[in-house]
Amino acid sequence: MDNSSSESIFTKIINREATADIVYEDEEMIAIKDINPKAPVHILLLPKDPIKNLNDFTQTHTELLGRLMLKAAEIAKKLNIADTGYKIVINTGDHGGQIIDHFHLHILGGQRVKAVV
Ligand code: AMP
Repeated sequence: MDNSSSESIFTKIINREATADIVYEDEEMIAIKDINPKAPVHILLLPKDPIKNLNDFTQTHTELLGRLMLKAAEIAKKLNIADTGYKIVINTGDHGGQIIDHFHLHILGGQRVKAVV
């Protein structure tokens, strides 16, 4: 039976069942270029574990969250947007504008990024 339809596009990318422009990968996370960039630099950083969103994180994920934040800053430096600045966005659920139910950070930079708040 083909269960691929229950996988999110991000899981397919992680499993190399779909292609993406990968800018970083290790055993627990992957960073890809957003397919529909909202800024000159728009990267998505996600854990390989398909945690749905911030609501599903627990105390056991404290260090993973820390490593994701540190990796986001490292990627920003590598892509030369750290000094000029960037925005990290985490959409959570329907009202938060989350479309893909696999937790991810947006890293946006390369020009001034509009804020909602
Ligand atoms: P969100 O609204 O926070 O769930 O953001 C999902 C993001 O994933 C959007 O910015 C999309 O442009 C992006 N996206 C959707 N499909 C792909 C894909 N195949 N490769 C890269 N980014 C994607």
